[in-house]
Amino acid sequence: MSDTIAAVATASGVGSVAIVRVSGDNALDIAKKVTKRETFSPRYAHLSSLYNQNDELIDEAIVIWFKAPHSFTTEDVVEFQCHGGSIVAEKILETVLFYGARLAEPGEFTRRAFLGGRIDLTEAEAIAKLIEAKSDETAKILARQMKGELREFVDDVREKLLRAVAFAEVTIDYAEEDLPDDIVNNILHQLEEIELKIGQIVSSSERRRGMIEGFKVSIVGKPNVGKSSLLNAMLGYKRAIVSDIAGTTRDTIEEQIRVGSHLIRIIDTAGIRDSSDTIEKIGIERSVEAIEQSDIVIAIFDVSRTWDEEDEQILSLLEKSGNNKEIIVALNKIDLPKKLDTKKLEQFNPLQLSQDNKAEQIFSELEKRLSKMAQGDELLLISARQIEAVKRARSAISQAKEPLLMGELEIFTFHLNDAISAISSISKPVDFNDIMDKMFGEFCLGK
Ligand code: GDP
Ligand code: ZN
Repeated sequence: MSDTIAAVATASGVGSVAIVRVSGDNALDIAKKVTKRETFSPRYAHLSSLYNQNDELIDEAIVIWFKAPHSFTTEDVVEFQCHGGSIVAEKILETVLFYGARLAEPGEFTRRAFLGGRIDLTEAEAIAKLIEAKSDETAKILARQMKGELREFVDDVREKLLRAVAFAEVTIDYAEEDLPDDIVNNILHQLEEIELKIGQIVSSSERRRGMIEGFKVSIVGKPNVGKSSLLNAMLGYKRAIVSDIAGTTRDTIEEQIRVGSHLIRIIDTAGIRDSSDTIEKIGIERSVEAIEQSDIVIAIFDVSRTWDEEDEQILSLLEKSGNNKEIIVALNKIDLPKKLDTKKLEQFNPLQLSQDNKAEQIFSELEKRLSKMAQGDELLLISARQIEAVKRARSAISQAKEPLLMGELEIFTFHLNDAISAISSISKPVDFNDIMDKMFGEFCLGK
C-alpha cells in the first residue's frame, strides 16, 4: 500500500493544456470528490466540472482514470487535463492535496514506474534526459531509448554471453576431451563481434556526448590574439540564445550558446573572460587542459604579429590532440597588416577573422562541425554510468578470449560472468538505490 502522490505534470506558465497527475490507492476516490462524479470508466476521457473543497467551480476539465496496473506508475492514476496556465492547475493540485494526496517528490512518478516494473533503468534514464533535451535530434534518440532500444541491445548481448557460458559449462561437466575447434571458433567469433559492436557504440557515444550535455568548446591562443573579443562577439550575436551558468561546483565559468539545433558550452579554463587590461597568465598548461576537456577547439592566431615560440607550442598541441576532437583554426586581425607566416596552419584550412565578421564565420563553421559530430545512427549511451558499464563488459570479454583458446574454461567462464554482470547492470543494477536517488532526484516535479 503506497500513499497517493500528486503534481502538476506539465511545464509551468505557457501551454494551452495543463495536466495534474495523481497516482496511488486513493487517486480514484480523490477524483470522485473533485468531480462529484460517481463512476469512471478506465481510460475514458470524462468531461467534468471540477470543484474545490468549498464547492467552488475551478474548471471544466478532461479527467482520465488509468486503472492499476495499466498506468504509467502501475498504480491507479488519475489525470486532470485542465486549461493551461499555472493558476487552474495549482488550484486543482491544492484541492487534490486537501483530499489526502501528498505532493510528489521530483521524479517520484518515474521511480514508481520503475519499481512497478513498468520501465527499466535505461528507460528511466532516457526520460530523465529527455526532460532537459537540448535539441530535437537528441529528443528523438532519447524517445527511442525510452521505448527500450538500449534495453533490447543489453538483453541481446547478455543472451549471447550466457549462451557462450552455457557451452563452456556443459563441456566442463560432461566432456572428457577439449572443446572441439569449430565450437571454440564459433564462440570466439561471436565474442569478437560483440566487442566490435560495443567499441563502436562507446566511441560514437563519446563523440556525441555533447548531444546530451552540450558540446564543450574551448578558445585557445597566446595572450592578445583576440580570444575575449571572439567570445564577446559570439555572446552578442543575434542568433545566440545565451545563458549564464555561474559554476558552483567547478572553478570555471561557462557560457551556454545555442548553435543551430545544438548547444555548446564555452569552457573558460584559459581565462578568456579577463578584460584586456589585466595580464593574462594563460600558460601552456591551461591550454593543454582546455583542449583536453573540449569536443571542439577554436585556436586563434594573430596575423599582425610574427610567429613565435608560443604559437609553435599551441600548434604542436593541436597536432597532438585526439582524433575525437574538432579543431577550428582562426587567423585573427586580418584587417591589420599581415606579419604572420601562416604556412604551418594551412593543414587546418584556417578561417580569416576581422573586427566585424568574427561571430558569423565562427558560428557557420561551428554548425558544420556540430552536425558532423552529432551524426550517427549508433545506439547512444547517455550517461557516464552506462558508458562505464559497457566498457567494463568489453574489457571482461577481451580477457575471456585467451583462456578460451587455451582451454582454461573456468577462467573463461569467470571473465564472461563478469561481462554479463557489467552489461546487465545497465538495465538492472544489483544495487540500484544510490543510482535511483541520484537519478530521480534530478528530475523536475511531476515526472
Ligand atoms: P585575448 O588576450 O586573446 O583575450 O585578446 P583580446 O580579445 O583581449 O584582444 C586583444 C586586443 O586585440 C584588443 O585590443 C582587441 O581589441 C584587439 N583585437 C581583437 N580582435 C581584433 C581584430 O579582429 N582586429 C583588430 N584590429 N584588433 C583586434
Ligand atoms: Zn582575453
